[in-house]
This record gives sequence, C-alpha cells and structure tokens, in this order.
Amino acid sequence: MASNLNLKNKMESGLSKEILDTLKLCRDTAFESEYKIFLIGGVVRDLFLGREIVDVDVTVEGDAIRFCHILADKKLCKIVRVQNDLKTAKAVFPNNIEIDFASTRQEFYPRRGHLPVVVRIGCTLEEDVYRRDFTINSLALSLNEGSFGDVIDYVGGVDDLNNKLLKVLHDNSFNEDPSRIIRGLKFAARLDFHRDEHTRELQKVYIEKNLHDDISWSRIKSELKQTFSMNIARTYDMFLVNDTYKLVYGEKPDIKGLEIKNLIDNYSPEYPWLVYLGTVMKNQKIIEAFCFTRPEKKIFTDRDYLLNNNLSLINSNYDIYKFFDKRSVESILIYYLLTKRKEPLIYLEKLSKIRVELSGEELKNLGIEEGKKIGTLLDEILKKKLAGIIVTKADEQRFVRSQIK
Ligand code: ATP
Ligand code: MG
Repeated sequence: MASNLNLKNKMESGLSKEILDTLKLCRDTAFESEYKIFLIGGVVRDLFLGREIVDVDVTVEGDAIRFCHILADKKLCKIVRVQNDLKTAKAVFPNNIEIDFASTRQEFYPRRGHLPVVVRIGCTLEEDVYRRDFTINSLALSLNEGSFGDVIDYVGGVDDLNNKLLKVLHDNSFNEDPSRIIRGLKFAARLDFHRDEHTRELQKVYIEKNLHDDISWSRIKSELKQTFSMNIARTYDMFLVNDTYKLVYGEKPDIKGLEIKNLIDNYSPEYPWLVYLGTVMKNQKIIEAFCFTRPEKKIFTDRDYLLNNNLSLINSNYDIYKFFDKRSVESILIYYLLTKRKEPLIYLEKLSKIRVELSGEELKNLGIEEGKKIGTLLDEILKKKLAGIIVTKADEQRFVRSQIK
C-alpha cells in the first residue's frame, strides 16, 4: 500500500537529468493511455539509501510491449528489442537513455531450488511484489501522474530499510530459491545490513537440512561471483560464521577475510572472487556443477596440483620457480592461504619477475645452434639468474660466450 514516503527529491538528486526527464515523458504517456508504471526493487532501495543509480528499469502493470509501442508511435522512443515470452521491451530515447520495460509477473517454483516458471504476465503490482527476495527489494515507486515519487510498500520494506534489516517475504523463500541466501550475504556486506532473526533461522534450517545437491547452480554461482567480487573482507567472515559455505559443500578453513582482501589488493588477480571461493570449495561434483569457464576451471586444477604435489623436495629458487611457473596467480594465493608456506609469496614477489632477457634469436646470433641446445641453455641461464649468479643481460651474454668456448 502507499506509504507516506515520497522520493521525488531523492530522484532529483540521485538520477541524472536525462533519466529523470525520460521518466517524466513516460509518466505523461502512461497518464494519457491509462497505464500504471513503476520502479521496483533494487533501484527504489538504492534511491532511498542515497546510493548511486546507473540505470533504471521500469515496470508496467500490464503489457510492457504494448506500452512501449504507444511511446514509439508518438515518436518518443525507438524500440530496440522485445522479448515476447516475458513481455519485456528495451527502448532508446532521443537523449540516448535506454530503458528496459518489464511487465508485472507472477512466478511459480515447480521444483524446489530450480528456476521458476512465469505463470501470469500482467498481474497486479502487488502480486508481482511477492515473487521477490527481501522486503527491502520489494518496494515500488510510482511514476504516475499525481503520485510521482510515492513509495508503495506492501511488505514493510520501508521499516526494514530504516532498521537495516534483511527479511524474506515468506517461510518458503530459501526452499524456492537458495541463491537468496547468497543474495542476503551480498546485501548484508554491501549495505551493512543484518538478517532478522527469523530469516537467520530459516537459513539455518535450510542449510542444516542439507537437501540441496539437486538445485540450479547457475544462480548460486552468479550470486557468489557478485558477492566476492566486491572484495569486502567481512563478507568472507560472514560466509564462514553463518555456515553459508555449506551451501556449496565447502570445507571451513582457518582464514580471515582481511588476509584474502590484502592479498587481492596487493596482487590484483583477474578473478578475485575465486581466491575467496577457492579456499573453501573442494567438492569436485559441485565444482563441475558450477560450469566454470576454462580459465576459472584452471584455478581449481592448479590449486589441486599445488596441494597434491610435494613442496618438501624443493630446496632452491629454481625448484620453487618450476613448481609455481604457469600456475594461475589465484591458485598460488589460495595455496598460500591454505598452507601458510612462504614459497608462494617468494615466487610472486621475486622469482616470477626474473626473466631471461636474451631471446632464442639472439642466442643464435651469438653462435648457438638451433634446436634443443637453445632450450637447455635458456634454462641454464634462468637457473643462474634465480640463484643470483647472473644479473644483467650483459652477464647472460658473457655466460653464453663462455659456454661456446
Ligand atoms: P543490485 O544492486 O545488485 O543489482 P538488485 O536488488 O537490483 O541489486 P537484481 O539482481 O538487479 O538485484 O534484481 C532486481 C530485483 O529483482 C531485486 O531487487 C529483487 O526484487 C528481484 N530479484 C532478483 N533476484 C531475485 C531472486 N533470486 N529471488 C527473488 N527476487 C529476486
Ligand atoms: Mg539491479
């Protein structure tokens, strides 16, 4: 129902002038054609909290494609994409603002933990709200004439925003979609909110039941990626303390989020989220189920190689170099976090930066025959550089000449 809250001022400060002007155009057309249109979800939450808004989606009570056609017929926008099954449309306006228009919809979960099916498109706003995850993500904001900026709150989301609370909408929420557990973690970390007691209890019960091996992992993966890509140290601590790691059948390591964050800040790996996750996820079945991309998968195979091979036989810089060479940075960091050995950092800090400067071509010019000999010699130079016996390119050349003699 309509709350007393109006966010018009926050819209003026939080949205660009172009977006706001475009929303007002939509308001006028909705008024003339008797459509009701709204902002819903994350964008309302972020406007309320004064957080940055980059793009907005508009929800149409009814058929969003038809509404877009009315805008397009008036030459206010061009429709650039439509999706008929969900009745969504993307339109671009003359000021280059792009807006996605979605129809209100109701969803149904025929199989626990699997993706939902849409049962009714064009339902009421209130019915649309109940498919959502948390009360703070279920607020709508009117874009309609006479109520522009009014917040519509069917589920007590405004109070929860004020109290910094994450509350699910019903007791079956995590059974329907366990990725909401990770979403809860993401919002808790990002907004510094807390799960209310009942939501914590529902989460605990869900995780303890341990009935989630047959679920759709794609959403879980996507949420974990977003969550850990934020690189906020306490996310990881919460992940462990709340037993959320059990959702991916993980093993709890003795590591603090801050240790991981510091390493990520220092070494800037390409996949920071997998450094967090790689310290916990060991179950091969779940790793398979995540359908990682090739470079993502390599992080796990490299990690397992490092953990399963014996570093105790290693006693020179050259051995350390060979052990870590060609392994992904992420896997080396995970190995360090899990073993607390000093070699991985020696490798990353120092040894990995040591390179043979002479090229194969230059060796040939110095009189070395092509073929196997060149490879052996380059390796010999590397060994000496890692031991500190050879330092500069001139040293390398001198060494090569001595070998020819
Ligand atoms: P972000 O700022 O990370 O984009 P968001 O709240 O906008 O956060 P989105 O993933 O963009 O999240 O989804 C938009 C809205 O769709 C959410 O605010 C929420 O109402 C709803 N939603 C998204 N994912 C789920 C889910 N798994 N279950 C229920 N509702 C969801
Ligand atoms: Mg969003």
